[in-house]
Amino acid sequence: MATFPDIMQGHGSQQAIATLIYREGPISQPELGKRVRLSRAAVNKTISVLRDNRLVHTVGTRRPTRGRPADVLEVDRSTNLVGVMTLDPSDSSTKASLMRMDGVGIWDRTVPHDRTIDNESLLEVFSSAAKEMLDVATGKGLHLRAVTLVLPGGIHPVDGSLETCVHFPNIANLPVERTVRKITNCHVSSIADMQALCAGIIAAQEKPQRVAILIWGGGITWSPASPAEPYGQMLSHWRGFGHIQVVRDGRPCYCGGRGCIEAEVGGWALLKQLQAMQPEFADIDLPGLREQAKAGNPVVRKVLVEAAERFGEYFHYLAQASNPDAILIQSGLGLPEEILLPAFRRGLEPWLHPSRRGTTEISVIDDFGQAAHRGAAWLASELFFNPKLIRRMRPVGSASTSKRTQSIRSGVREEQQRT
Ligand SMILES: [Zn+2]
Repeated sequence: MATFPDIMQGHGSQQAIATLIYREGPISQPELGKRVRLSRAAVNKTISVLRDNRLVHTVGTRRPTRGRPADVLEVDRSTNLVGVMTLDPSDSSTKASLMRMDGVGIWDRTVPHDRTIDNESLLEVFSSAAKEMLDVATGKGLHLRAVTLVLPGGIHPVDGSLETCVHFPNIANLPVERTVRKITNCHVSSIADMQALCAGIIAAQEKPQRVAILIWGGGITWSPASPAEPYGQMLSHWRGFGHIQVVRDGRPCYCGGRGCIEAEVGGWALLKQLQAMQPEFADIDLPGLREQAKAGNPVVRKVLVEAAERFGEYFHYLAQASNPDAILIQSGLGLPEEILLPAFRRGLEPWLHPSRRGTTEISVIDDFGQAAHRGAAWLASELFFNPKLIRRMRPVGSASTSKRTQSIRSGVREEQQRT
């Protein structure tokens, strides 16, 4: 059985035809010939390769106005699989799953580990999950075509390694993409968790909308996403957001600046405020903050409500620039939706164009993990049939190599060593 590189790389016509069948199938053979401008013999030959490899199958025949009935082809979505592997910081685990290209899940596994896990051990987790994926697929007579790795940190724009991650302080330059590719011999791409989330949210929309996705946890990130660019825009869009200066000479930030959005209203900053406010909060951490907020501790809630209001206010620049139909907030800080949303709206709306006041939907993302997973599975197929897409998702020379990012990174490491 030919593998991904054999089918999709170095064969322009093969890839063009496979991609057309994926996007526009069911499609007849003569129609394909017209679209790719190849001779009938060349099209037939390519199709028989794709068919022998069980990537496409015949789903019927169509009789043209003249001549013999022609085969109608489609990607065989029930025997071709995609895999998703997610390094999940929320519960410190690696999750792996296999899905058919039609979205039916057939296998999954969660491997818990410590957030202090090192490169060697984490590579071992990914390697054994990848081996298992391949075994399950082969055992069922199915074909694993593509795997996406969903990573919560800086991804190297060229080799897809996990350069660094706030949540896993001992991980640096993890060659995870290369390792999984070696084992599975299929199309492997690392994507940011935000990109998977954008794709999943857009894929689940009933009516197409431009959305702005905000994540408010220890740090703060955002991404615009629209049906035209469903996987989220360039990484550099959201990398810098948390470090826009909003208060001149404000609170010091770990990036070296002052008064950054994160330093003013990010979860880490709020912890510092609480620690300084009351002796009972001297050792409070993020899980503790969440618990107190959920339990309705008035001091914690007051700090969070004020922060949500200011967060809304700080977001108005980007709300005006990206003009979203809807704003989705994922908050890991435990403030209930019915308190968080009005507070954010109070901060944001006075700054908006009058036509946008009250008309911008603001809601909470309540299926973060599922949405990201759904998006990653969809992106695995998209990237398999259009490998060049990754260049748009991961622009070379992005923020990952900039001086500012380097300084943020070393700041993060120092912060972590201190706590
Ligand atoms: Zn900063």
